[in-house]
Amino acid sequence: MRIIIVGGNHAGIAAALRIREEYPDDEVIVFEKKDEITFVSQTIPLFLMGHQDIHSQANYATPQEIIAQGVDLRIQKEVTNIDAKKKLLNFRNVLTQHEHEISYDRLIMAAGSYPNLPPTGGKLNETLFLLKERKDAEAIEKFISEAHHAVVIGAGLVGVEIARILAQRKMKVTLIQSNARILDKYLDENAAIEVEKQLEEEGIDVLLGTRVLSYHTIEKKIWSRPKIEVETSSGKKVRADGVFVSVGFRPNSFLLAGQVETGDRGAIVVDKYMYTSDDSILAVGDCSTTYMDLTGENIYNPHASDAFRQGLIAAVNIHEKKQEVAMTTGTYKFNMDGFKIANTGITLNQAQKYGYDADEVHYQNHYLERGGKYIHESIAKYAPAEKGRKSHYSSIYLVYEKKTKRILGVQVLGTVDISQYVNIISLAIQKNVTVPEIEYTDFFFEHGYKNPLGFTKILASLVREKERESGRDGKEEKSDEVK
Ligand SMILES: Cc1cc2nc3c(=O)[nH]c(=O)nc-3n(C[C@H](O)[C@H](O)[C@H](O)COP(=O)(O)OP(=O)(O)OC[C@H]3O[C@@H](n4cnc5c(N)ncnc54)[C@H](O)[C@@H]3O)c2cc1C
Repeated sequence: MRIIIVGGNHAGIAAALRIREEYPDDEVIVFEKKDEITFVSQTIPLFLMGHQDIHSQANYATPQEIIAQGVDLRIQKEVTNIDAKKKLLNFRNVLTQHEHEISYDRLIMAAGSYPNLPPTGGKLNETLFLLKERKDAEAIEKFISEAHHAVVIGAGLVGVEIARILAQRKMKVTLIQSNARILDKYLDENAAIEVEKQLEEEGIDVLLGTRVLSYHTIEKKIWSRPKIEVETSSGKKVRADGVFVSVGFRPNSFLLAGQVETGDRGAIVVDKYMYTSDDSILAVGDCSTTYMDLTGENIYNPHASDAFRQGLIAAVNIHEKKQEVAMTTGTYKFNMDGFKIANTGITLNQAQKYGYDADEVHYQNHYLERGGKYIHESIAKYAPAEKGRKSHYSSIYLVYEKKTKRILGVQVLGTVDISQYVNIISLAIQKNVTVPEIEYTDFFFEHGYKNPLGFTKILASLVREKERESGRDGKEEKSDEVK
């Protein structure tokens, strides 16, 4: 059987290698339009912070390594047309411009996504910047060396990261967010406020509840950089050297438009086996939909963690539907230098929106730094950080369903990295684990700490306390009910 994969990044390469392993007799051809594969976009912030070399550390595999494993990988070949009825595909050699045609038995669409771009002006890589590809990182590095003031539009995962990096690189930064809080897809209000304070401490001007109406180039003097003016819904106009647009991604699904079912934001709709509405075509990664745990939706949710898993599942199911994809809990960690954020599941806001009768507990831990090590200082609830002393801390929010005590989500943040707890909670959500169950699970004893229980057990005791205080545990009446 001939299997053709369109796109040689995370989803496409994961699928190709797994097909090689599962079905060694099949022919696997991958078309990738660029001259590289497996480019990790998360390397862009690390490169701009000076932590990683975009030239040598941004890819986890070379074309030669993939070809050596028996995959017919064809780089610099762009797929230009797909005829699903005839099972034919056209591709162009990007160097010679020659066009060719090839047939397939199965097609895996792994063509990824593009950054969303509002329609107003600015010249790309001069006054207007995106974050996705290697060339974007190189253009931004040049901009930082020449410019002074940047406007970042959109305070999601990518926008917050780039705003912090630009500020750390000594630029004046204005971060504009249309919603009431930053990172509202990932964090609840109080957690978001903690991050907003951190950004403000770092000198970033955060404009909340503000929409960008337009941005355009206002002057271009000889020997100097052009300036951009951003008009906002509050009437405020911001002049800057460049605008960074980070307002999400859109699926690259147009080659199959009208040939397979598309859904949320134009993403290719897939079933739980990664099959599209055409039974010879599968779709994976940023061009397709994702099944979300807890909300049950099949929506557009472009993330690398899903792209990998979906690639593997498509490979396993390429001959017959054998294995359902595990639902996505939504587990992310941000590359924030000196300040960590990670989350999984849903926020309290989202839980309420989807009809869960939910609540949230919060725990904050402070640390002293001694000899380069963090010493667990105290339970912050009983001994809050001294005023005026900049302390190291970690903050953790747990969302749960009141009646069943099922865990629905967790958000962790702070200057000390406790993000690994998030992976544990992701598994707990997938397995429908309740708060009491996690309290009684055998986790190691955290000796050396003032509270040796570990975060999961401390959170469980806070849930018990909250349920008791509210009278929901049946042991104590609510104070207003007593009256
Ligand atoms: C700055 C940044 C930070 C991020 N951080 C995180 C994070 O912390 N956690 C997380 O989970 N996700 C993160 N993401 C998202 C993540 O990078 C994407 O979800 C992931 O790249 C999707 O992989 P993919 O293979 O589906 O698609 P893509 O990476 O978009 O790759 C698609 C490939 O298909 C090729 N292609 C497209 N059209 C054609 C064609 N017609 N012919 C041939 N080839 C074609 C493209 O050249 C590309 O190589 C981040 C993204 C960015 C930009």
